[in-house]
Amino acid sequence: MLVLCAAAACAHAPEGAPPAAPAPNAGAAATVPAPSGGAAAATPASSAGPATTCAGFRAGGVAVSLTYDDSLQSQIDNAGPDLAKYGLSGTFFIEDVRPDPAPWAALRAQGHELGSHTMIHPCPRINTWVKPGNASEDYDLARMNTELDDSVALLRSLGQTGPLSFAYPCGVTTVGDAHDSYIPAVKARFAAARRVDSVVAKPSVDLYLTPGIFMTSAGSALIARVAAAARGGGGWVIFGFHGVGGDHLAVTREAHAELLAYLAAHRDTVWTAPFGTVAQCLRGP
Ligand SMILES: [Zn+2]
Repeated sequence: MLVLCAAAACAHAPEGAPPAAPAPNAGAAATVPAPSGGAAAATPASSAGPATTCAGFRAGGVAVSLTYDDSLQSQIDNAGPDLAKYGLSGTFFIEDVRPDPAPWAALRAQGHELGSHTMIHPCPRINTWVKPGNASEDYDLARMNTELDDSVALLRSLGQTGPLSFAYPCGVTTVGDAHDSYIPAVKARFAAARRVDSVVAKPSVDLYLTPGIFMTSAGSALIARVAAAARGGGGWVIFGFHGVGGDHLAVTREAHAELLAYLAAHRDTVWTAPFGTVAQCLRGP
């Protein structure tokens, strides 16, 4: 399934459906993946040690998390191989991938983090792609609790260990016509959660409401966000992507690779780590 969102409204397109109009989107979820390293390399991290980089970030440095929403084929085909090429680890916020779990388990085995994006991606019914009965307004807390439990079980079955991460579909944190918050349900199961907001997070960020920067721009623009954070006193740049060189709301594979090349070349000053890893850094021991 696919989902696209912008701020409160989200454009989500079911698989096979035409891509919705470009809009920033939301995805979400993460755990504590292994430090980055070559995809095939079993050895943890080849860059700066996690402890050092975490400390550096907390002291005013820059952390970058690369997150991918909606469990899309282009993420398997393009994002995964490109992350491996540059020795970086990302976070894949997945939906119900039980029909074909192997590629996602493989990404996890390569050191990436798998997080939850719920199972069927409920979003406000104002989005025309939302199927009747599956809008966030159609949910109550009991239904969401059940879906979150199923998602947690799925993540564990795919090999995700440790604290889990979550991404709110469409960045929306409520269910039902009364807009009941399901943040407590998220807190009961996950260690951190991402929304959609194009800002750089400071270390004091609420870990259950972190921003997510969705850009489909050129590589230079993606890199500029990281460079600006460095000039601006540090912070956590949480990128959100949907398609990578395919699928909906896609960034081009070239732009994505340019960003990865930049991050790989600046390991000494920019700490690139999965969403859950940086969240754990901020949470502390
Ligand atoms: Zn989504």
